[in-house]
Amino acid sequence: MDYFPICLKLKNLPCLVVGAGSCAARKIELLSRAGAKITVVAREISPQVAAMQSTHELTIHEQEFERDDLYGFKLVISATNDAATNQYVSECANQQNVWVNVVDSPALCDFIFPAIVDRAPITIAISSGGSSPVLARLLRAKIETLIPPTYGILGKLAEKFRETVKQKIHPPSNRRIFWENVLQGRVAELVFSGQMEAAESALNDVINQTSLPENNGEVYLIGAGPGAADLLTFRALRLMQQADVVVYDRLVSPDILEMARRDSEKIYVGKERSQHALPQEEINALLVKLAKEGKRVARLKGGDPFIFGRGGEEIEMLVEHNIAFQVVPGITAATGCASYAGIPLTHRDHAQSCIFVTGHLKDDSIHLNWTQLAAPNQTVVIYMGLIGLEKICESLISHGSAADLPIALIEKGTTSQQRVITGTLSTLPEIVKHETIKPPSLIIIGTVVSLHEKLSWFANKTN
Ligand code: SAH
Repeated sequence: MDYFPICLKLKNLPCLVVGAGSCAARKIELLSRAGAKITVVAREISPQVAAMQSTHELTIHEQEFERDDLYGFKLVISATNDAATNQYVSECANQQNVWVNVVDSPALCDFIFPAIVDRAPITIAISSGGSSPVLARLLRAKIETLIPPTYGILGKLAEKFRETVKQKIHPPSNRRIFWENVLQGRVAELVFSGQMEAAESALNDVINQTSLPENNGEVYLIGAGPGAADLLTFRALRLMQQADVVVYDRLVSPDILEMARRDSEKIYVGKERSQHALPQEEINALLVKLAKEGKRVARLKGGDPFIFGRGGEEIEMLVEHNIAFQVVPGITAATGCASYAGIPLTHRDHAQSCIFVTGHLKDDSIHLNWTQLAAPNQTVVIYMGLIGLEKICESLISHGSAADLPIALIEKGTTSQQRVITGTLSTLPEIVKHETIKPPSLIIIGTVVSLHEKLSWFANKTN
């Protein structure tokens, strides 16, 4: 280890910054976030630093740096653009045992600045030991995505209850297990979903042992998006990585499943068109059973759980059984396919509204409100419409849509195998007859489809 990380308490600590340009401004900003009492010494004060006086507690001296300026400081940062001054600051600091950092000159530094993920009171510092600050910043970006800002709130909650827990729970090993459960369980989830009052009351309950919510299972109804794994939300990913069991169906791609916790149990519940691997009632019952066994269950659904996803039915059953749950929205097929196919669902010149309908009803028939769907200046998106494509096109034409109204069929939208087939209401059924269409596929109808060729990101994959 070339550099040893420590966390300094800078609150009210006098710190000196030499230089007053944009680089110094960044350091002033950082130090004052930690509550340091900052003095700036510089030959010239930039307007940026001068302006900081109104928002930060700063003392500014417009003068050349001198050895005696270091008196009373434990820490100095030299951020001037003059190498000789930087060198001199470093030398003086060494002689007087003041810790020094010279911006961009590791050789002159006692300490260096890490890249910081600030989730106060949680702070994560990443250092490349000066070898590659860019790599440290890239790593920081990765960590930022894994640790949502709500971890800070969780940290504050833990701080607030720390003393009480210390007094009530003994010995320390029990306390550790207690906190491990709380910080990974129901209380943490309540914090992450913004329910602070419920979180505090749940935490009080566990401390007073009026209930043991940590032993209860929970169901996360997660929208896994239309296919591309990087369209998952951060929350979806986090919950998938903590779930004990993953219950998924056909629309959830292997890439996405791959991102679930490695040692979690994976249960496939299928859902091919008209041959459900498990009837919906049994899926509902399975979720209840697993949660009652105390498991954290990630119920992964393609797209968004509340758009043609029967998510409502699944949580109704959970509510009936008093099982805690969360619903995580996902990118629905309509928006995913539209973006990846270069078809804006609304557009000032084309469509002022957009309708999502299902082309597959419970009894396999299609009874849609054709008059409404045939109205102009809108986009109609049809889920599960391939089987009824011919009937859909005929009905729209007979209810007043133009026979040359553009229509697109998007196969495996957002995945590397996405294919977009376009035509008109009168031509597409025939075109599709000559193609082998692989599920899932989505239909988009409206003049917005005419923009596809111009806006498509996947021009080489389209017909
Ligand atoms: N809850 C899902 C929809 C489930 S219904 C969502 O919000 O997207 C299943 C239908 O969604 C499929 O028959 C198909 O019409 C559509 N669909 C889902 N993923 C798709 C994809 N990647 N490409 C095209 N259509 C898709």
